[in-house]
Amino acid sequence: MIKVSNYTKDGNIAEFDVSGLDVRSMNVFRRTVISSVPSMAVEKITFYYNSSILNDENLAHRVGMVPLTTDLTTYVSQSECSCEGVGCGRCVCKLTLDVKGPRMAYSGDMKSTDENVKPVFDKIPLIKLLPDQVIKFEADAVLGTGKDHIKWQPGLASYEIKDKDSFHVMVESYGPLPVEELIKKAFEVVEGKIGELKEKIH
Ligand SMILES: [Zn+2]
Repeated sequence: MIKVSNYTKDGNIAEFDVSGLDVRSMNVFRRTVISSVPSMAVEKITFYYNSSILNDENLAHRVGMVPLTTDLTTYVSQSECSCEGVGCGRCVCKLTLDVKGPRMAYSGDMKSTDENVKPVFDKIPLIKLLPDQVIKFEADAVLGTGKDHIKWQPGLASYEIKDKDSFHVMVESYGPLPVEELIKKAFEVVEGKIGELKEKIH
């Protein structure tokens, strides 16, 4: 029987003890947190104007790495969406940036069309703009997972083996999801995988 005890939370980091699982299951849980729990990140950018020193691709890469708060109840991944990947309100959240130098453009300057999907941190520097340099773009944030690209990795998990079947677990969320939701979602994904396995056996 699986037993969880000594659960503590400090900001985005949670720790707990778990017993009744083997090392293999713990490893599946750890890898699920890193690579299979979905989160939102910018995948496509349409530039209307960019006179900064960074070219569009480099700037797009920086914007992609900005962690975004994620709403898993509203959004579905584009591959599973009824729009068949075209992009619609269920699978894409639009963010816009429109800034003019001289000033630093920050993550928090991006305006989201959905208050539930926005940069986790406002002060991530994107690019320093000189006088009259302008950046104007529209970005599409979509759900993805860490196994597709590191920008969708929602956090980190690790564990220590205390005994044959008992472990001390640490999970840190990078901010897309509250840490307790990240843990629950990881267990859901693990359960889903076990369910799929069961169906294949029958
Ligand atoms: Zn869609």
